[in-house]
Amino acid sequence: MNRRTISKEKFIENVELHPMRQQEDTDIAIVGGGICGLATALALHRKGINALVFEKSETTRAVGSAITIFTNGWRALDQLGVASKLRSTAIPITGSEELRCLKRSVLIETLVQELPASISYFGCQVVTIKSDPLTAFPILHFRDGNSIKAKFVIGCDGANSVVSKFLGLKPAQYLSSCSILGFTNYPHGHGLESESIRMRRGSISVGRIPVDDKVVYWFVGRKWTPQDSDISKDPEMIRESALESTGNFPEEVVEMIRKCDIGSLILTRLKYHAPWDILFGRFTTGTVTVAGDAMHLWAPFLGQGASAAIEDAIVLARCLAQHLTRNKVQAPLQTYVKQRRMRLVKLSTQTYLTGMLLEPSSVIVHYLCLMLLMVFFHDMLGHTRYNCGPL
Ligand SMILES: Cc1cc2nc3c(=O)[nH]c(=O)nc-3n(C[C@H](O)[C@H](O)[C@H](O)COP(=O)(O)OP(=O)(O)OC[C@H]3O[C@@H](n4cnc5c(N)ncnc54)[C@H](O)[C@@H]3O)c2cc1C
Repeated sequence: MNRRTISKEKFIENVELHPMRQQEDTDIAIVGGGICGLATALALHRKGINALVFEKSETTRAVGSAITIFTNGWRALDQLGVASKLRSTAIPITGSEELRCLKRSVLIETLVQELPASISYFGCQVVTIKSDPLTAFPILHFRDGNSIKAKFVIGCDGANSVVSKFLGLKPAQYLSSCSILGFTNYPHGHGLESESIRMRRGSISVGRIPVDDKVVYWFVGRKWTPQDSDISKDPEMIRESALESTGNFPEEVVEMIRKCDIGSLILTRLKYHAPWDILFGRFTTGTVTVAGDAMHLWAPFLGQGASAAIEDAIVLARCLAQHLTRNKVQAPLQTYVKQRRMRLVKLSTQTYLTGMLLEPSSVIVHYLCLMLLMVFFHDMLGHTRYNCGPL
């Protein structure tokens, strides 16, 4: 059993016996213990605010092998006080102000280690949220029949968010493509330059980026097919499929996939929230809000999903800390949404237009997207220089 795992029964008992029970309406419940949920809990913890994290998996969950973090993400990690520890695990990649590729498990474990053991609860799946008829505060209902009242609920529960459903947000839509992600470990060193490489052959793309001197993170992008539902359940089949797709890529690419760490492989169909859904989405109702993929899901064309989720965490904790001292209950969430919205609209628009260029479309649509990208996003890496501000 994970050292941070306690049973739900024990947790309920703790809440009932603990003096905090009497002031439960000051509690903050975070649904989802992925990158965003843990970053939000840590940001709040740094501000001296208690929050409880409810994660449906039985242990920490780091699906996917690695993520690229650009300057904006490192700035946010600096605010969380974990950047220097994380920097030591990943080499700098040339061509960007600061770009490193982090193992997901390292990021998740680092966030968990910085948090007090008593605030994360695993094996707690939230199934619905309702408003308390007396106080209007949200009540979380769990799969095992228990329920908990909280003053604030922050939904960091990813692509199929229960909290965004409560808020009435539009679900993410599927793209026609998928990604296969994995690591290859070279025990004697890979000898590659510290650069991010992308190649394309027809509708298939391959990316490769070193994590450190021995480990290389790679991905294959291709069309989704109905057989992929089955393939995604079997790592051997995922590898076979990646090899099939990349047969006409350079031999070193094929070799890298052949020698991959089989346990690191995942195949995932890409989903997205359209820019207009983010522009008009009602991201807060009463004292409930969302962050991370639950708020803004994009295809990984800019590699910004996790960094944006960590930015959300910083801004949300800052807003809560500023307003709670003045005892204002709804203002912090409204301020948070206001501060995040245009940043997220810009990121989703750039991602959307980039994706449209990669999808088959008419010549007119293709050139329109190209023109819009050139006019509004001529500085293609401009988004990586964003600063979400201090915690
Ligand atoms: C192929 C691919 C490549 C990517 N590459 C990059 C990259 O290079 N750089 C980058 O920055 N981003 C990248 N991303 C995006 C990044 O992975 C996500 O944006 C990031 O993981 C979002 O974190 P999150 O915590 O919001 O969501 P998640 O990581 O999905 O975490 C949600 C958590 O909530 C839990 N949960 C869900 N429902 C419930 C419930 N009802 N009750 C309790 N718990 C629940 C889940 O178990 C999970 O642990 C990529 C995404 C994909 C698909």
